[in-house]
Amino acid sequence: MVKKKLQVAPVTEKIKESRLRWFGHVMRRPENHVVKKCLSMAAAKGGRGRPVTTWLTNVRRDMKELGLSSDDAYQRTNKIKFTMELEKDCSLPFLDVLVKRNPDNTLGRTVYRKPTHTDRYLNGKSHHHPSQLVTVGKSLFQRAQRICDDQHLAAELQHARRALQANELRIPRVNQRSHIKIPTVERRPAILPFVRGVTDRISHILKRASIKTYFKPMKKMSQFLRPVKCNTPLQTAGVYRLDCECGLSYVGQTKRSISTRVKEHIADVKHRRPRSAVCEHVMDKANHSIKFDKPLVLAKEKRYIPRMLREAIEIKKYPNFNREDGFSLPPAWDPVGG
Ligand SMILES: [Zn+2]
Repeated sequence: MVKKKLQVAPVTEKIKESRLRWFGHVMRRPENHVVKKCLSMAAAKGGRGRPVTTWLTNVRRDMKELGLSSDDAYQRTNKIKFTMELEKDCSLPFLDVLVKRNPDNTLGRTVYRKPTHTDRYLNGKSHHHPSQLVTVGKSLFQRAQRICDDQHLAAELQHARRALQANELRIPRVNQRSHIKIPTVERRPAILPFVRGVTDRISHILKRASIKTYFKPMKKMSQFLRPVKCNTPLQTAGVYRLDCECGLSYVGQTKRSISTRVKEHIADVKHRRPRSAVCEHVMDKANHSIKFDKPLVLAKEKRYIPRMLREAIEIKKYPNFNREDGFSLPPAWDPVGG
């Protein structure tokens, strides 16, 4: 059922597919290629009995099954498709360059922005080190100078200036000479969060000792919010609890995802395989049913020892039908149990 839901091809099919793909890849190589030569070498003669199954025998069998000949290996699949972009208003975007066709059929270049671009950058009033704020303007100007031709440069710089103003950023001076000082002594740099009045002063002190400081921006609002794409807790490794209608529970742990483990429990019960305490409980006691639809995640833990300890603690906490108590805990943990 799981396989059907996820549209996963059976493993053997997957192996066949990759075997044939590699065979085709080798066959399309030039005749004198090492790997191809090896492939065409005659296999060593076997002794008596069934001939040895080689990799190539498998390929031949697979090809026969699928009705393919070795000529097919030379033909590329028609699944590969190409797209084409057409010139629009005498211009065509390529990466971040907009190539423009002039009336005299020469090509001009300017910066390309997607139609959805909002010109919103780091705001000048935000709590960042001045050098980080300056970089925004610098990079916009540098990009304009690198990409645009003389004809479009002025307009692009004007656009950048307006964007910087809208974001309350300082406009860098054009043709400003960058004066990069080569450090005389190499020291490991310091990485500090930027706190105005604190870490910028520390960086001055460090600079005297030839230590460069990199400022990390503080946490942004988005980092405090829940991520948009979020794994449901059932998709993590950890300790979980399954309740039975009789009031007893089962506490388990897994290093794979909890949902996978719960699915295994369901399959075991369905096929009456007494592989875990869950299935034994259902098989021993008539009319007991486990609430498989409500597995409870007690802890998310990938590391082995902490996970096993947590399981042992949780087993102590709930009335359960576990076969074992998990890790043996020191008696100091006894008060945890109800
Ligand atoms: Zn029960």
